[in-house]
Amino acid sequence: MTEAIKIRIGGTNIYLLQSEFNFYVMIDTPISTGKNKLLQKLSHYGISPSQIKLIIITHSHTDHTGSLAFLKELTGAKVIAQQKAAAYIEMGRSAQPVLTNQFLNKLADKYLSRHPEFNKFEPVKTDIIFNEEYELSEWGIKGKIISTPGHSKGSSTIILEEDVSFVGDALFNISPFTITPPIIEDKAELHKSWQKMIKSSSQYFYPGHGPRISRQRFLKAIKKASK
Ligand SMILES: [Zn+2]
Repeated sequence: MTEAIKIRIGGTNIYLLQSEFNFYVMIDTPISTGKNKLLQKLSHYGISPSQIKLIIITHSHTDHTGSLAFLKELTGAKVIAQQKAAAYIEMGRSAQPVLTNQFLNKLADKYLSRHPEFNKFEPVKTDIIFNEEYELSEWGIKGKIISTPGHSKGSSTIILEEDVSFVGDALFNISPFTITPPIIEDKAELHKSWQKMIKSSSQYFYPGHGPRISRQRFLKAIKKASK
């Protein structure tokens, strides 16, 4: 794999990994209103939608799934998600977000007023469903997807052998002060998932929101959380 392509739409990062088999694997999709911008960006990178053969959904929140139905139809790609996320994807809705504090609650209210579609999206049938782990080698990607619940019950992380991970919203990088996501369904689960994620040899962790996070910064956050 050459370096992943990062496309930022409406504050959400979409990543494209190049498969050894000469196609692309997409991690997450933009909000429903971000379709055209995504198509523009793909064309900017010289990627035709039919070159995308697999779409990995890190979790079922609409800022990651909003364009999924459209993109599945357009690309013909298979969709993969963890079992609990897949259940929501097939219902076309997110679990009710649970926010960590008052300040962030206000931010979320603002976000929700700007994105009333937040909790709903067009339902999609997930083609490949896994529980704990899914090996990506058959897709020409050296790596795997592992279940990392906490932000939401069906959250997952893509760990590549070349020492980078794509973590969805298990980590958040929109503030210089914290990488803890503003939405947590289960804090104990999230911290368990962090332990699983740091066990990989990843040097960088690419979140669904904001720039990549170094291993050192993640280690600091884990140490602080265990106090
Ligand atoms: Zn999320």
